[in-house]
Amino acid sequence: MRAVARNVSVVGGGIAGLTAAIYLARGGRTVTVFEKNRHLGGRAVTHLRHGFRFNLGPHAVYRFGPGSRVLRELGIPIRGGVPKRGGTVMFEGRQHELPVTPFSILRSSLLPFRGKLEAVRLLARLPTLNTRPFELMSVREWADRNIENRRLREFFMSLCRVVTYSPDERQCASVALDQLKRAMLGVVYVHEGWQKIVDSLHSTAVAAGVNFVTSSRVVGVETNGRVTALELGGLETVRSETVEAALPPLEANVEGNPARVLTDTVLLAVDPTTAASLLSNEKVSRCWRTLEPVTLACLDVALSRLPNPKQIFAISVDRPYYYSVHSAWAQLTPQGGALIHVAKYRAKPSKMTSRDYDGDSIRLDDEAKRDLAELEAFLDELQPGWRELVRHRRFLPSLAVTNAVTMPSAYRPQPQTPIRGLYLAGDWVGAEGVLADAALTSARAAARAILAEP
Ligand SMILES: Cc1cc2nc3c(=O)[nH]c(=O)nc-3n(C[C@H](O)[C@H](O)[C@H](O)COP(=O)(O)OP(=O)(O)OC[C@H]3O[C@@H](n4cnc5c(N)ncnc54)[C@H](O)[C@@H]3O)c2cc1C
Repeated sequence: MRAVARNVSVVGGGIAGLTAAIYLARGGRTVTVFEKNRHLGGRAVTHLRHGFRFNLGPHAVYRFGPGSRVLRELGIPIRGGVPKRGGTVMFEGRQHELPVTPFSILRSSLLPFRGKLEAVRLLARLPTLNTRPFELMSVREWADRNIENRRLREFFMSLCRVVTYSPDERQCASVALDQLKRAMLGVVYVHEGWQKIVDSLHSTAVAAGVNFVTSSRVVGVETNGRVTALELGGLETVRSETVEAALPPLEANVEGNPARVLTDTVLLAVDPTTAASLLSNEKVSRCWRTLEPVTLACLDVALSRLPNPKQIFAISVDRPYYYSVHSAWAQLTPQGGALIHVAKYRAKPSKMTSRDYDGDSIRLDDEAKRDLAELEAFLDELQPGWRELVRHRRFLPSLAVTNAVTMPSAYRPQPQTPIRGLYLAGDWVGAEGVLADAALTSARAAARAILAEP
């Protein structure tokens, strides 16, 4: 079998795979991205329904997060609206002003007087707080030690849940605090949805010479001390005329299925379970299977208008809910319309996987039915009358927001693996950031490591 030098095969066409592919192609490698779906983008896709642009649940770019730096470095624009800090917080069935600025802290009825004073002090302390000493502490432990007022403590915990998407109180304090600090610097709701970022990454990758093979599921990575080949499953593997010349050699096989692509460098930009299933080397991949995903149940709703235009953002302290009208800040709807994301932070992943979300008529198990009813009832509280104004809605019972919740002293795999020629990228890889920040920074780190190979 002929090894192919300086070819890199990227498995997965989400934002991590696309980002790595651009760095690699600009670094002089011949790069091919294999994506199992017909469309690129993974969890960053946006679907157009009746003129409304639906991200997969609520998506915000952290303006000054490490992921934004990667996108800027690649010349990918992030255009959108920056939501103002403010909104509603629900507690014990009552609505209060969200106390997140000095004035709203003083005005809000959520906190008692002593809690207000402590909240102002905490707000002033957070931006310059060195979080390194809290790497081995859970966020609950940090809150218990540092916040005296009980109501403020629980409110703080609900803010950590919103910024990390995880209701797990065991999660690492330094990660949650860093994310809170980033959120305080502002987020962007992207005009026309995250698809804009995906499209921009795609066109930049094409300009850099990256080849794409979509509708092509990778079913195995062959190794023999080092990476030797990829196995492609199914007959979906259609090689178009235009990319034929640039692709690495495809070994003819007698059965016609699966096909093998000879390659000595593979970057896996997929979820950890899939990554582990592609390798026969259990020793290397065992830990990847133990990572705990953070999942969310999302109700995404398009309305012809907003019944209560003042109610733009809300969270709950004593229930794990989120509500935000993303169209109030980003162009996502026809004129006058509204696009709302309501979500429930899930303590445990449900048995339903994210595969179940596609399409609008999904079969729901009992737990998902309950989640949907809860989210609709939450929306009733905030936007009474919304049901009469629905243009389109969809329910996503259990989406993996991120593939690994960060625990104190948690193991998160590095982009370089013990297998020569095998690399990883994604929101479960590397040491920097969480969510898309982690996907983008690990993609850059993996590409740099590959380019540094002799
Ligand atoms: C509801 C929700 C809300 C979110 N909100 C935010 C937010 O506000 N801020 C933020 O920063 N991040 C947010 N995220 C997270 C963000 O979307 C992800 O971190 C990011 O999109 C991950 O990109 P990725 O490329 O690492 O993975 P993915 O997007 O999962 O891409 C992996 C790709 O690999 C492909 N693939 C899988 N297996 C194979 C195979 N065998 N062969 C070929 N291809 C394969 C998949 O089809 C997919 O396209 C949110 C996610 C969700 C679901």
